Amino acid sequence: MSNYRIYKQQVFETTLKLVDNDLIRLSSGNISMRLPDGNIAITPSGILYDRMEPEDIIIMDLNGNKVEGHYKPSSEKALHYEIYKARSDINAVVHTHSRYAIAFSTVEMELPVICLELLFVGAPIPVAPYQCPGTVEVGTVAAAFFKKRPELKGLLLKDHGLVAIGGNLNDVYQNAYNLETGAEVYHLALQTGKVPNALTEEQIADIFAQYKKP
Ligand code: 13P
Ligand code: ZN
Repeated sequence: MSNYRIYKQQVFETTLKLVDNDLIRLSSGNISMRLPDGNIAITPSGILYDRMEPEDIIIMDLNGNKVEGHYKPSSEKALHYEIYKARSDINAVVHTHSRYAIAFSTVEMELPVICLELLFVGAPIPVAPYQCPGTVEVGTVAAAFFKKRPELKGLLLKDHGLVAIGGNLNDVYQNAYNLETGAEVYHLALQTGKVPNALTEEQIADIFAQYKKP
C-alpha cells in the first residue's frame, strides 16, 4: 500500500468540501498539498469529482513529474508547483472556477477590503493578468504576486477563477471559501447601485487588536 495514502485521503476530503460548497463544479478546479518528503499530492486532470476516489490523487515532484498515480496530474500543475517553489511557508494550494471570482476577474475589478472575509485573505485582492490556462505562465505570474505581497492569501486570475494559498489544507479551504464569499458579497452590495466603502486603516487595526484579546 502506498505511503502516501493518508495525504491522498486528505486532499480528496478537501476537494469534496469545495464541491459541497459549490466552489467546484464538474472537474473544474484543483487542490494540492506539499508533503513532508517535498513531493506534492494533487488532484488528477479532468476527472469529475463525483467519480473520484482517494487513490486517484496523484503524487508529483516539485517540477510536475508524476511519482505515483493512474491519471495525469491537474493541467494546472504549474500553478501549484510555481507557488510552492516561490513560498516555502505555503503547503496547500486551491484553484477554483467559482462564479463570483470569475465574474470579477473578467472585468478586472480588484476586491476591496469591505468585509471580514476579504480582510482575512489580505484584500485588496488583485487580478493577475490573463495567461492561457494550463501554461507555466499562469503559475509564474500568480507566484510573483504571492512573493511580492506575503499577506495575500488569494488572488483572481483574469477570465479564469481564483487561486488561494495556505499553510495547510484547512487554511487553504477557508481562504478559498472566504475569497469567493467576499466576491459574492461585493457583487450583492454593488447591485444596490451604491459602491461599498473599504474599511479604513484604523478600522482594520482595531479589528486585529480585537482578535488579539484573550
Ligand atoms: P484540471 O481538471 O486539469 O485540474 O483542470 C481544471 C482547470 O482548472 C483548468 O484551468
Ligand atoms: Zn482553471
